[in-house]
Amino acid sequence: MSEEIFKKIVAHSKEYGFIFQSSEIYDGLAAVYDYGQLGSELKNNIKQYWWESMVKLNENVVGIDSAIFMHPTVWKASGHVDAFNDPLIDNKDSKKRYRADVLIEEHREKFQQKINKEVEKAQKKYGDNFNEQEFLNTNQRVLENKEKIAVITERFQNALNNNNLDEVRQIIIDYEIVCPISGTKNWTEVRQFNLMFDTKIGSVTGDASVIYLRPETAQGIFVNYLNVQKTGRLRLPFGIAQIGKAFRNEIVARQFIFRMREFEQMEMQFFVKPGEEMQWFEFWKQKRLNWHYAMGFNKNKYRFHNHDKLAHYANAATDIEFEFPFGFKELEGIHSRTDFDLKQHQEFSGKKLQYFDNAENRSFTPFVVETSIGLDRTFLMILSNSYDEEIIEKEGEESGTRVVLRIPPALAPVKVAVLPLLKKDGLVEKAHEILDLLKFDHNCQYDEKDSIGKRYRRQDAIGTPFCITIDHQTLTDNMVTIRHRDSMEQERINITDVEKIIAEKVSMKNLLKQL
Ligand code: ATP
Repeated sequence: MSEEIFKKIVAHSKEYGFIFQSSEIYDGLAAVYDYGQLGSELKNNIKQYWWESMVKLNENVVGIDSAIFMHPTVWKASGHVDAFNDPLIDNKDSKKRYRADVLIEEHREKFQQKINKEVEKAQKKYGDNFNEQEFLNTNQRVLENKEKIAVITERFQNALNNNNLDEVRQIIIDYEIVCPISGTKNWTEVRQFNLMFDTKIGSVTGDASVIYLRPETAQGIFVNYLNVQKTGRLRLPFGIAQIGKAFRNEIVARQFIFRMREFEQMEMQFFVKPGEEMQWFEFWKQKRLNWHYAMGFNKNKYRFHNHDKLAHYANAATDIEFEFPFGFKELEGIHSRTDFDLKQHQEFSGKKLQYFDNAENRSFTPFVVETSIGLDRTFLMILSNSYDEEIIEKEGEESGTRVVLRIPPALAPVKVAVLPLLKKDGLVEKAHEILDLLKFDHNCQYDEKDSIGKRYRRQDAIGTPFCITIDHQTLTDNMVTIRHRDSMEQERINITDVEKIIAEKVSMKNLLKQL
């Protein structure tokens, strides 16, 4: 069922100009996508929501825009040259390549799904008398599956922590994990694969040196830490935010814009006094979850998931996972990165990257709490939450099924569509008058083709919160029909009220105020 919805979302994204495969006329480039006329609008709105929530709403967070190319030593210092690897494994029959860690995690998730099913069944059986906590603590089948999760997690964590790739493979063999394509257990060895793309800089052969396309935007923040702190006269704690492209040569790239080789990140590094990082880690966890909740989707679709293996730089790490149509997966990472990055850059550059604390009269290297979210994954999260098929039984609407994207109005790519009922009798001119009124504040569409019902359907499909219809009566009483996307309610309102009603509902400010 979910897989089917996912396919529909992918097809819908293309059909309505949200997302196209890159270089499609050349049969595409794997895991690279282009955003179309509506996709780029939605993406810009997401960026604005994130940027303003960070930079505008927090006095002590500022934004930068650093270059994609960086000195190659940056990636030595950060550990990416040596350790930015994923364990890969191939199935010899299907010739398909997988991330060994993902195969194991997905297998483990099956035990969790079994638990969820038991809970659902029991809930139906016992109704109002059902005590979920007690059930989870006592039901035999639940306990068995919990134990299975604990056993596989411990074994997996140990294997990863000891970088024991043979053991990772052995787990796959022991749990009889099969390739989803061939259905066989005919696996190769597990080996590490570095995810960074490299290229050459410099025009003269021989002089050219290898540089990398950045695999994360964070390092651009670390190397500018002192520039920003000094020029901005910032005191701890403070944050530096940035939105930008990142590149990873992902092993498996089959999930649309969930995992891309070129993607965009929205990252914020928050610099704090050593010892205060856990308090800020908790602070940002909550703040980021609230950012997601404010969009108004079902809260049960989000959960925290602590990392099984901490990255080489972290002393605490959690993911905000979202239930995509293909299951719960990472949407955002919140990491306590200690002073690892700044210390490494001090060592490799020979430049001091410290903070002088006036009150304490001493210098030290700040600790860092990071929030890192994929813009494209956020886009997919919004599409997955918004996509709805609805049977229409409403007066004044054409009967049938409608596809509606219930995108939060502040993020919707088009805010209002202006529709003259007919292409004559001065209705077109009146429609343009209204359009001229609204276009400075909102992205609007004008549509005069086909029946009004079909035009409503087209706007529903792209998530436009409001349609304004102009009819003959408008010319005499200055009233228009405003139609609301979600409820399909229609109201007659005065043209002088149009601006106010729309501005209120689609306001980014009102969304930000909920944070
Ligand atoms: P995953 O485990 O899914 O590969 P990750 O743990 O490597 O992700 P981070 O390095 O924490 O991801 O990156 C921060 C965020 O950037 C992720 O939460 C995700 O939203 C986004 N991101 C990472 N890799 C990709 C990718 N290949 N395509 C799209 N978004 C990505």
